Amino acid sequence: MKYLFGPVFSRRLGYSLGIDLLPPKICSLNCVYCEVGPTTELTCERKEYVPTAEILQEIDRFLASGAAGRPIDVYTLTAMGEPTLHTRIGEIIAYLHARTDKKVAVLTNGTLFFDPKVRAELSAADIVIPSLDAARQESFERVNQPAAAVNLEQVIEGLVLFRRQFHGEFWLEVLLVRDMNDSQEDLAALQQAVRRIDPARVQLNTVARPPMDGRARPVTREKMEQAAAILADGYAGQVEILVDLQAIEQKELGQGKQLQPKLVEEIAGLLQRRPCPIEEIDKALHVQDLELTRACVQALVNAGRIEKLVHNNKEFYQLATVRSDPRKD
Ligand code: SF4
Repeated sequence: MKYLFGPVFSRRLGYSLGIDLLPPKICSLNCVYCEVGPTTELTCERKEYVPTAEILQEIDRFLASGAAGRPIDVYTLTAMGEPTLHTRIGEIIAYLHARTDKKVAVLTNGTLFFDPKVRAELSAADIVIPSLDAARQESFERVNQPAAAVNLEQVIEGLVLFRRQFHGEFWLEVLLVRDMNDSQEDLAALQQAVRRIDPARVQLNTVARPPMDGRARPVTREKMEQAAAILADGYAGQVEILVDLQAIEQKELGQGKQLQPKLVEEIAGLLQRRPCPIEEIDKALHVQDLELTRACVQALVNAGRIEKLVHNNKEFYQLATVRSDPRKD
């Protein structure tokens, strides 16, 4: 499949079949934390970047195969860039609704919501999850590196207007990057924006996967909790922390430990044979230093070579198998 991927399990959406509407990497932003890589075409121009007919044919093939026997909760329109740049996104949403009884979600950076056509097209979706990482111009430019035509005030106003007209689930994702958009001024400005936009939920995130720019680092657990409290103040909706705070701490530990490249490769070799919990890796390779083992495991996770899975309430690590959604699900 060229455009469809998954299903991947997403904590937010359940089993999600992803549909990429754009090739890498056409976007109206060039976020420092992007997992896809640098934006090669930084634009707000809407076009039919890939043929809609081909996407619909792939959807038909997938459905004809009985969804390949896989459970699906939701079809998620996304992209290796910004999906609302595709001019026929509305038709694709309508097609999915006509052919399946599942929900349709859209993951978007929200920069084009000022355009009434984009708002009308997305109104047919069931779940829309835009992001807004900064409500101060300098932080917005630092973290999101927008195309020249993107205007922050217009972006926030577009989100406000969409929220008023949309009857489905509307969740706002905010991704915090250490020392880039996490100052007290930034959080206060985001608090004002959240109050204005009034999404049903705010989902807080931080850098959890290898970013495009090595300067993009996760914020601490304390910062996430502080940000959640600030955003929840005076806002009637729900503020959730999406990211695994324990993983952030492990990452922090990892940054304090000197990585051993040989041990990293030995761990990768061990996990090639079977999934293992951290303690077992530490024991099997005679490391006897859980912090060091964690740091090396985290380095492999960051590189996308291994992934965590939970089985019987226990965390294991195994070789990475699934392609990940570029929107941090
Ligand atoms: S994170 Fe999303 S919005 Fe930001 S550059 Fe990557 S694809 Fe574009």
